[in-house]
Amino acid sequence: MADAAVAAPKAAKKKDKSPAKIEIINENCKACDICVDVCPQNVLAMRKDPAKWEGYVVEVIDLEKCTKCMLCEIECPDFAIEIS
Ligand code: SF4
Ligand code: SF4
Repeated sequence: MADAAVAAPKAAKKKDKSPAKIEIINENCKACDICVDVCPQNVLAMRKDPAKWEGYVVEVIDLEKCTKCMLCEIECPDFAIEIS
């Protein structure tokens, strides 16, 4: 009887511990506040921006707390946030 095939161990998933990069695409941001609401780490906030029709734009206030959970990027309806 042939030996049973042995599956190769799966490569251990490395956790990405590099610092987060958050790119805000200002011209896409409609100041809806969704990303600020969904961020569990309070990394984001709205700031006044007279150049914007909405009067506000999102900004990063505490980058070091970002866990790269991607919630803000996923929930933004205007593709205005990119996490890497
Ligand atoms: S969810 Fe998107 S459009 Fe809304 S405030 Fe955040 S970055 Fe701007
Ligand atoms: S990736 Fe997660 S922790 Fe980082 S800013 Fe977005 S929602 Fe907050």
